[in-house]
Amino acid sequence: MVVNVPKPGKELIEMVSGYKSLFIVACGGCPVGCDSGGKPRIDELTEQLSKNGIEVEGSTEIDFLCNKALVGSKLIYHIEKLKKSQAVLVISCGIGVQATGNMIDIPVIPANDTLSSQGMQGLWPSSERCAGCGTCYLALTGGICPITMCSKSLINGMCGGQHDGKCEVENERDCGWNLIYIRLNELGKLENLKKLPRLRDYRKMDVPDKERTTTRWALEKAEIYSAPVLNSEKEEASNE
Ligand code: SF4
Ligand code: SF4
Repeated sequence: MVVNVPKPGKELIEMVSGYKSLFIVACGGCPVGCDSGGKPRIDELTEQLSKNGIEVEGSTEIDFLCNKALVGSKLIYHIEKLKKSQAVLVISCGIGVQATGNMIDIPVIPANDTLSSQGMQGLWPSSERCAGCGTCYLALTGGICPITMCSKSLINGMCGGQHDGKCEVENERDCGWNLIYIRLNELGKLENLKKLPRLRDYRKMDVPDKERTTTRWALEKAEIYSAPVLNSEKEEASNE
């Protein structure tokens, strides 16, 4: 389970201000388990956006947004509504937001913040894409994560070391901020580089007790507690 929680309402409204029409995509996987997604959240956000004068062109729930191919194959059915939308609000962990951003040519906006999941990368595990920093920046960075794609996890733009698009820390590695620049240019959103990102709140790197008890920790506990019962049942059966 990738633990993700709703972004604070004020921050969410700041991120969507400037857009007149949005499409909502929700992940039907981890956010449902974390009580931060599903149909109720789509309805809640639709209402919130409407109150703020933003048209919701449509919405959809996709089982696992961290499965890029699945996202592409499902979004194709909403192409006309997507064409009318200026951006997509994504109810998901950072991996799902990035997978969605990979499949469309309009900006993605994360509705959730992702907390540490000990490196778990959902169904897109070929690389570390989300480090669960707790303050998702993808709305500002064209859907490319500055924490995992930049060797120094800079949130305020490129350092002075980039050379020919490569990172000064590792010459073979693309400079994450160069990729962000290219993507923002493609999206017509270079002005994002002038916006001040929120400071990282490192307290959010840990998962609070409330979320621990609602996700896999609870499942593991249940497993541990039920194991002796199962074992004694097996013993009884073998004695019969
Ligand atoms: S900015 Fe990156 S590390 Fe932080 S929550 Fe978003 S995707 Fe994850
Ligand atoms: S060169 Fe680019 S990726 Fe490397 S540390 Fe500097 S900004 Fe980050």
